[in-house]
Amino acid sequence: MTVEEKLAVDKFHVDEEFAHIEVDKDGDAKVIDRLVKLCPAGLYVRDENGELTFDYAGCLECGTCLVAGKGTVVKSWNYPRGGMGVEFRLG
Ligand code: SF4
Repeated sequence: MTVEEKLAVDKFHVDEEFAHIEVDKDGDAKVIDRLVKLCPAGLYVRDENGELTFDYAGCLECGTCLVAGKGTVVKSWNYPRGGMGVEFRLG
C-alpha cells in the first residue's frame, strides 16, 4: 500500500472556525520552498504565479512546518481544538 493510499483513508474533522496553522504568504521564499518539499500532506503549494497557497484542512499534525517555518512563514501553530483534526485509520 502506498503512502497516498494510506492517507486517502484518513478522516479529517475540519474546524472551519479556527485555523490551527496560520502562514505568511509573503514570507521568506527559501523557507516556503522548504515547506513545499517537506509537508507530507502537500499542503504548502506554489500556484502558477509562484504564490504560496495553504489549506490547513488536510493537516496531519506532524509538526514539520512548526520546526521548519516557525517565526518566518508559519505565523502560528496549534493543534486543532478537541475532537477536530485528523483521524488516522491505518496508524
Ligand atoms: S503540521 Fe505537518 S501535515 Fe500539517 S501543515 Fe505542517 S507539515 Fe503539513
